[in-house]
Amino acid sequence: MTKLDRRLFLKESAAGVIALTLTGGAASSCITEFSSPDGKKFKRPTAPAGEYDVVVCGGGPAGFIAAIAAAREGAKVALIERYGFLGGMATAGYVAPLSVFAFKGDLVIGGIPWEFIQRLESMGGAFIEWPKANVDFDVELYKLCVQRMVLEAGVDLFMHSSLIGCECVGKRIDRVVIQNKNGLESLQGKVFIDATGDGDLAWMAGVPMQPNPDGTLQPSSFCFVLSGVDTESELLRNCMYHDGVRGPSQCLPVRERLLQLKAEGMDLPDFGGPWFNNVLHSGSVAVNITRTAADSCDNRNFTAAECKLREDIFTFVSILKEEFPEFKDCYVASTAPQAGIRESRRILGVHTVTAEEYVSAERYPDSISRGIHPIDIHQSSGSGQVRIDLKQPAYVPYRALIAPDYPNLLVSGRCISTDRQALASLRVQASCMGTGQAAGAAAAQSIKEKKAVQEIDTDRLVETLKSWGAVL
Ligand SMILES: Cc1cc2nc3c(=O)[nH]c(=O)nc-3n(C[C@H](O)[C@H](O)[C@H](O)COP(=O)(O)OP(=O)(O)OC[C@H]3O[C@@H](n4cnc5c(N)ncnc54)[C@H](O)[C@@H]3O)c2cc1C
Repeated sequence: MTKLDRRLFLKESAAGVIALTLTGGAASSCITEFSSPDGKKFKRPTAPAGEYDVVVCGGGPAGFIAAIAAAREGAKVALIERYGFLGGMATAGYVAPLSVFAFKGDLVIGGIPWEFIQRLESMGGAFIEWPKANVDFDVELYKLCVQRMVLEAGVDLFMHSSLIGCECVGKRIDRVVIQNKNGLESLQGKVFIDATGDGDLAWMAGVPMQPNPDGTLQPSSFCFVLSGVDTESELLRNCMYHDGVRGPSQCLPVRERLLQLKAEGMDLPDFGGPWFNNVLHSGSVAVNITRTAADSCDNRNFTAAECKLREDIFTFVSILKEEFPEFKDCYVASTAPQAGIRESRRILGVHTVTAEEYVSAERYPDSISRGIHPIDIHQSSGSGQVRIDLKQPAYVPYRALIAPDYPNLLVSGRCISTDRQALASLRVQASCMGTGQAAGAAAAQSIKEKKAVQEIDTDRLVETLKSWGAVL
């Protein structure tokens, strides 16, 4: 019987922190044994919930597109998502717009991602801002549109399910363990795609991560919908769009007044932008203004950061009401389900995309996606932001989606192998969808070719992606 190396990550119990250890066992075992640091042991049943070709962890822009792509290539696909809806930062973080699908009016990210945008537009849920094709959207229609496309593709959805561990044989992942109201369940797979944003599965499986010696991360921002806003006013009309034609999307008059108040001695929290983003409904905007240093992979740190940001939201809203007539009747209609995350873990892949390669638009033999958003680094304290505009769309190689030696793991989205600067462009949603599309196609191809993800025919992969409309 094969000895399994089980890596489960239960971090808290009533007794405090639990060690991340597990006893080994047979693949068919349905009892999982946990050990706490004081030697106490307890057992919990792990019910097998299914055997799949491809298991996708995380239902954000990278994950749902990956799931659709793999399913359309004939794979039996499971998609795991901790919330009761899909969309990741778009719907769980109120991050708008969906950036950036085009360069000077020509598509850069095509295929299934663009099909999704067109479908959302046909439902009245998207407004495409040409020539960059930044996409403003309705959060609720976004959730509905994704759900329809995923289910139509035949994907099995496991919502309200948190990935909490994986079982490996060497570096091959055998199954993942999820927790939901059924208890602990395990899903067996031939290939796994980590689209959790934070690289949870890769981390659990022991994949080395990009070094971050000084621990610097881009800040977290807690976005919210503000209603009762005069969206017909000149102030709002001039800054609600990201087409690069109507002027800066940062609302400069509000920014300047906030900086002035701070200079005059007002005790103001750090802020970014601010951005007042179009949500397709007159009188309402999605606001991105708060910011604080935070580590989304440290539960206590992130909890404290989120509590602070929730306070900050209401501080800023009261200032807006007092200082600007356009906001005098405004109110917080809803806060996002969670504070937004710009940066956390990324794998150390077979290839790491560097800023130099990225800015010079280096084209790789295995290019599978593109990016045209500026390199956009928000500073974790203060109001600063460094932006480098790209002169031409950049490329992403397939090798940034795989780690050496892990034969059945792909990553997509924010946790692919890049340096900090390249991530600062590739983290945007169109680019995450692009790498998701490639990961889904590659997963299905690796099963068809019966090859490790490092060994698949990348020419064939590129041909598949082009046949779907990817612009490579
Ligand atoms: C404040 C802010 C502003 C931004 N502005 C823009 C912008 O203007 N335009 C733009 O395009 N992008 C913007 N971004 C970036 C963009 O939103 C994200 O980088 C992008 O959504 C990442 O996509 P992803 O699919 O990799 O991860 P995510 O969108 O984070 O999706 C990951 C999914 O996995 C799920 N998940 C995570 N862990 C687990 C687990 N253990 N078990 C089960 N499910 C799990 C999550 O719930 C989520 O649904 C911004 C981000 C922030 C925070």
